[in-house]
Amino acid sequence: MNYTASPQRYQDMEYRRCGKSGLKLPALSLGLWHNFGGIDNFENARAILKLAFDSGVTHIDLANNYGPPAGSAEETFGQVLKKDLKPYRDELVITTKAGFYMWEGPYGEWGSKKYLVSSLDQSLKRMGLDYVDIFYHHRPDPETPLEETMAALDLIVRQGKALYAGISNYSAADTEKAAKILKELGTPCIIHQAKYSMFDRWVEGGLLDVLEANGAGCVAFSPLAQGLLSNKYIKGIPADSRAASGRGNGAIEENRITEENVNKVIKLNELAEKRGQNLAQMALSWVLKDPRITSVILGVSKPQQLTDSLECLKNTSFDEAELQEINSILA
Ligand code: NDP
Repeated sequence: MNYTASPQRYQDMEYRRCGKSGLKLPALSLGLWHNFGGIDNFENARAILKLAFDSGVTHIDLANNYGPPAGSAEETFGQVLKKDLKPYRDELVITTKAGFYMWEGPYGEWGSKKYLVSSLDQSLKRMGLDYVDIFYHHRPDPETPLEETMAALDLIVRQGKALYAGISNYSAADTEKAAKILKELGTPCIIHQAKYSMFDRWVEGGLLDVLEANGAGCVAFSPLAQGLLSNKYIKGIPADSRAASGRGNGAIEENRITEENVNKVIKLNELAEKRGQNLAQMALSWVLKDPRITSVILGVSKPQQLTDSLECLKNTSFDEAELQEINSILA
């Protein structure tokens, strides 16, 4: 049966301006790093994508290497676009990235113009798109001059293959340099995608200030520390969890579910319950409490997790006592 999007899709979502750009993003976005690859169930992936769009999640985050196998998440997304979401293309912000290993030889990873341009051409083919909304350089390249990498982003935007340029996993100092080069080229860096959760607070040490000063937004990835910041690992490692999946490609492994982490999770879970939330919801609300965070990218393995996480938007403020309690649990 043909898909028709829910007429209520814009009712409950909050949209935040990305830095000082014209682009607004939903407070909650959907990421396709895991659960959307060639090894995953297509109908489950399709159901998650349709539910996301029906809930106002207009921003879908991809990268060339998402899968496994690398590239297959873009193919899955391309199929769902063709079957269901194509009539809504102009209501969607679709992103992809290049930076990590994709193919053999000297042009298959890092930050050369050669790699970035060919990788994006491949991504567009896999997704069946003429352009993406945001194209990111996925990780800094210690060898390629930053000027060349930024010139590649500028070129891609001028060619109309992406509407906006962004960077990911750059330090605060490198972000400052990249933003300056892009500004001079006339293609502003509007967005930085960075790991940020209660368990990984590095962005608070300078990056968020640099982004604000440069009019760029911050999009937070792995807000649940890959699921650790939920109540799922309190009683062991469930068989259907990411930690038990052995997926590789950076997925959380069983050795991260330590007694120390679980003890913190138990205490955080108690605080979440006092706030009328579960831990996953509180962890998402906690990232969103800072207005410099434009959006939080969710990774979900089941539609129910998306429904559950969306509830966090009902309470994204924290009082001083709650913040102090969280800090002392995490210390
Ligand atoms: P999360 O930290 O949110 O982890 C997602 C996992 O958490 C899910 O797979 C699921 O685990 C569990 N989960 C999600 N919702 C709930 C819930 N409500 N209750 C209980 N458990 C839940 O995010 P990801 O690490 O997946 O990252 C999100 C996205 O960020 C990626 O898809 C990608 O788009 C982007 N990203 C970008 C990177 C970059 O370098 N720029 C790097 C990494 C991610 P389970 O599978 O066990 O059910």
